[in-house]
Amino acid sequence: MSEAMDERRKGLEEEYFHRKNKEAIEKMRAKMRIAEEAKSAGTSSMRCPRCDGSLAVKDIDGAELNECGKCGGLWLDSGELEKLTKRDDRGSERGFLDKLWDSWNSD
Ligand SMILES: [Zn+2]
Repeated sequence: MSEAMDERRKGLEEEYFHRKNKEAIEKMRAKMRIAEEAKSAGTSSMRCPRCDGSLAVKDIDGAELNECGKCGGLWLDSGELEKLTKRDDRGSERGFLDKLWDSWNSD
C-alpha cells in the first residue's frame, strides 16, 4: 500500500470514529434532557421496568432515585449513581447506602 493511500485510510478511520463519538454524545445528551425534564416536573417519567408499577422519586442527598411502590425496585437516572458516589465523603458506595438506609428509616 502506498503511503498516500495509507494516509487516506487513516483519515477515513478518524472521520468514522469522530462521527461515532459525536452520535454517542448526542444520544447521551438527549437521554439526560428527558431525565432533567421529568425531574423539574417533580415526577418520574417512567414505569417500573420490572413490574410496570409506578415509581416514586426519592431524593438521596440531592440525587434522585426512582423507587417502585409495587416490587420495591430502585432505579437510577443517567448520571445519578455518579452523583451519589462522587458526593460521598468517604469515596465509596458505603456512604450512599447509609444515606439510603437513613431515608427509609426516617419516612
Ligand atoms: Zn416494580
